[in-house]
Parts: sequence; structure tokens; C-alpha cells
Amino acid sequence: MQQFEVQNGILHGATQIASPNFNARPADTDIQLIVIHNISLPPSQFGGGYIQQFFQNKLDWSIHPYFQTIEGMQVSAHLLILRTGEVIQFVNFNDRSWHAGRSSYLAQQECNDYSIGIELEGSDDLPFEAEQYQALVDVVAMLRQAYPKIQNHIAGHSDIAPKRKTDPGPYFDWQLFRQRLSKKTSSDL
Ligand SMILES: [Zn+2]
Repeated sequence: MQQFEVQNGILHGATQIASPNFNARPADTDIQLIVIHNISLPPSQFGGGYIQQFFQNKLDWSIHPYFQTIEGMQVSAHLLILRTGEVIQFVNFNDRSWHAGRSSYLAQQECNDYSIGIELEGSDDLPFEAEQYQALVDVVAMLRQAYPKIQNHIAGHSDIAPKRKTDPGPYFDWQLFRQRLSKKTSSDL
């Protein structure tokens, strides 16, 4: 099991790779939502490091035809959880990462302003790895301690942008995730 700790917006225990794709959250905005996504580049192919390059604006668009469809996009997430369970942080939690796009949660618009975005390396077509659920549970438990307003406000990208987005997709097991999370949280008390 990996050990994580949140300090000054940094997740200790995660690999740090800086993304330029962020800006300040609006003043006096508390973090109060976690948004779960999936991403793979090219779609449904894993490894290769292309997601990391994409979030750093360093992806060579000529490598794959799919990459040309996302050419020039400047996006990020706070965290990416690889298939191995390795966690990478791209943006400090105190900053606003560009992961949600136009979105709303409980009638509050612009989820990027007040959320933390977590990408799972995956797709809508394939199950996620046990290591990814484990890392996600560990990280989310830590984040809820560090940012108590999150509580149970954990949504999929498809929940906050239902007409545009389908991730984390049908293979993301919400029930398993929530069960493990509540078990972990109660065992911490
Ligand atoms: Zn997404």
C-alpha cells in the first residue's frame, strides 16, 4: 500500500510532473468536489507516456492519427493514476487544473473552480486495474481529510458534463470504490 500525505497542495507519495495548464482558483473558493475521469492515448492503449506529454504540452501530434484530433488542446488534471497504480501529480491542489470543461455539480457551474480532477489511465471499453482502485481509495481518503468540504462529493466527468462526456465510463465500479473508501475511512478513525 502506498503512503500519501497532503501538504501545501502537494501530494507526497506521488510522482511530481509540472503541467503549465493551470491558473488560480477564484478567490475564497474551497475545494469541495472530486471529479473522476478516464484517459488513454491513443484511446484504449496504455503505457507510452503520451498522457504525461499531453498534459505538459509536449506531445508530438504527428506520432498517431488520433493525436491530430486533440492537437493544440491545453488540458491537465491534478492527478493521473497509471495502470500500475503509480500516482502522478501535475497541478498543485491549491491551483485550478483544466480537466472538467463546461460543467456543473449541484447547480454550481464551472467545476474546475472548486474541484480536484483525477484521471485514471483507462477507457470506456476496459476494466480498471485493482492497483488503480487501491491508489484511488488511498488518495481520495487523504484528500477528504485535507479538504473536509469534499465529504461525499465525488462525481464522474459524465455526471458533471452529461451531454459531452462519458468518462470514467461503464467499467468504473462506483460501488466497489465507495465501499472501499468508507471502509478505509472508518478504519482510520
Ligand atoms: Zn474527463
